[in-house]
Amino acid sequence: MRKCRKCGEPASIFLKSYRIRLCKNCYPEFYERLVERTIKKYRLIKKGERIGVAISGGKDSAALGKVLTTLSMKIGFELETFFIDLGIEEYSRKSLAVVKKIDPDVNVVNLKNITGSALVKMSKGKKICSACGTIKRYLMNKTAREMRVDKLATGHCADDIAVFFFKNWLAGNFEWSEKLLPLTESFDPRILPRIRPLYERTEKENAYYVLTTCTPFLVDECPLAPEDEWKEILYGIERKKPGFKQSFVRGIVGFYKRSEKRETYEGRSCSICGELTTGEICSFCRIVKRSFTDCHH
Ligand code: SF4
Ligand code: ZN
Repeated sequence: MRKCRKCGEPASIFLKSYRIRLCKNCYPEFYERLVERTIKKYRLIKKGERIGVAISGGKDSAALGKVLTTLSMKIGFELETFFIDLGIEEYSRKSLAVVKKIDPDVNVVNLKNITGSALVKMSKGKKICSACGTIKRYLMNKTAREMRVDKLATGHCADDIAVFFFKNWLAGNFEWSEKLLPLTESFDPRILPRIRPLYERTEKENAYYVLTTCTPFLVDECPLAPEDEWKEILYGIERKKPGFKQSFVRGIVGFYKRSEKRETYEGRSCSICGELTTGEICSFCRIVKRSFTDCHH
């Protein structure tokens, strides 16, 4: 019987990339220390700050909510959670129920109350995830800003970052994306700084954490999610090269630091809602407008 490195009890978790075996009682502390290290290394949170966390109910965001709650006491920051109800029927209802179990005081933002339309109707199956991504980014920023937090934290982990990078690179989209970094500074007063405290964590580590801390989470995937073979491909590489995903995202940060200065960004105000945009109308309002015109016939 293999033993836990920390306490000598039978181990149930083997983390290949760290070559360490742990029992389910010792794992949470190990994980929390890793996240704390990421926060310090990239200076994501300062003492006394107010952090907004978007929780969807999936295992990554559940892990984020739980670990930040624990670390908020240790590091000394405040936490505000919120949930965006996209109105994806059964899935959104189940998600909200789980999120309320994680934090009974969670703030709920309802897409339908804001726009008069839920997600499915709004995008009518056409590239729904891209519309949904725009909507979520917009509402997360606006909600967090109105909650007067200093920064917005999301549950993106190494798997997400690596997939995002591969897809863009192969699509010939070499434009630098701030989404690939653990911290996105604000470049306009309307945009909150973004932090990704799980940047160096894998989905598997997050899953172990919610399981070992008995944190509620929703197993169901969004019914509108497309097949994503990229995750499978990355698992394949990870199996042969343990620690690949983590080294990969660290490599992205290193690459970024050495690359040229960022271009300055000229922001305009959306003529409908006043949020930051590059064109006349922001992409959120474009989606909403399109859905309303579609609904009239
Ligand atoms: Fe939105 Fe569902 Fe697509 Fe995720 S999978 S972006 S929640 S529609
Ligand atoms: Zn142990």
